[in-house]
Amino acid sequence: MKTAKLAKSYRIDDGKHFRVNDVDPADTGPWRSEEAAGKKLQEDIARMADLQAKLYAQDRWSLLLIFQAMDAAGKDGTIKHVMSGVNPEGCQVHSFKAPSEAELHHDFLWRATNQLPDRGRIGIFNRSYYEEVLVVRVHPKVLESQMIPPALVTKDIWEERFEDIRCFERHMARNGTVIRKFFLHLSKKEQKKRFLARLEEPKKNWKFSADDIREREYWDDYQKAYEEMIRNTSTKHAPWYVVPADNKWFTHLVVAAAIVETLEELGLSYPKIDAQKRKELQAARKLLLK
Ligand code: ATP
Ligand code: MG
Repeated sequence: MKTAKLAKSYRIDDGKHFRVNDVDPADTGPWRSEEAAGKKLQEDIARMADLQAKLYAQDRWSLLLIFQAMDAAGKDGTIKHVMSGVNPEGCQVHSFKAPSEAELHHDFLWRATNQLPDRGRIGIFNRSYYEEVLVVRVHPKVLESQMIPPALVTKDIWEERFEDIRCFERHMARNGTVIRKFFLHLSKKEQKKRFLARLEEPKKNWKFSADDIREREYWDDYQKAYEEMIRNTSTKHAPWYVVPADNKWFTHLVVAAAIVETLEELGLSYPKIDAQKRKELQAARKLLLK
């Protein structure tokens, strides 16, 4: 199966009818095992390195990759594996935690704006402004800490946030930031298995957080919030990929394919040399060889 086709079947450009339960977290497409898919992943990682070098040299487009998921869905591992071939200098990763005091003194997009990738770079958001319609929506009490004038906090707040996010992303897209968003879709059963591994395997103990178990209690509310988010913020220029996440190797495969597909569509190439520049190169060569 072609790379482009693989990612496409998980991509949502128009989320109007999206239902989270329609996607099977255990799906592995046409692949039956990690071994069978390994070669394809390595090819895509190599392809990505080549495309990133051109993105960087061209210095015009930037690529923003957003990762959202329930705990233990594999955001960190996906970022680590999929980006393993790219030049770290061309990459900017940022993890969004609960907002600081200083961040709460600004609107919710402010801290994200500050972390957007430079032209020529790939920016990775490990969580993002989408937390504003996920954790904040599931725990509306968080809204109270946000210092928004109370008159502006109405029942329309989530619709308004969706609209603001859509406009923000359209603005970015119109200015050369290509946006791709990944929801790593894990099953509740697999999450339990991964939490147990964090408790039982010494090397994974550090990953365990009691908060994660508490958030698990809100599983259904989160699924609903993800569904609403995808319904309201999937667009052609900033699509969501709903990536099955019960098999880590398959998650990596789909994300890598999506990135390669996206970069290939940009028709990247190394900057062309004009006559003046060619003269300069020839003169420099002469000087060196003297
Ligand atoms: P790890 O895989 O290491 O656990 P993580 O992304 O879960 O990574 P944590 O420090 O455990 O990192 O969690 C960050 C927490 O910050 C999450 O619970 C997330 O929901 C929360 N958070 C992020 N953005 C916001 C926000 N705008 N408002 C409130 N909470 C937020
Ligand atoms: Mg966590």
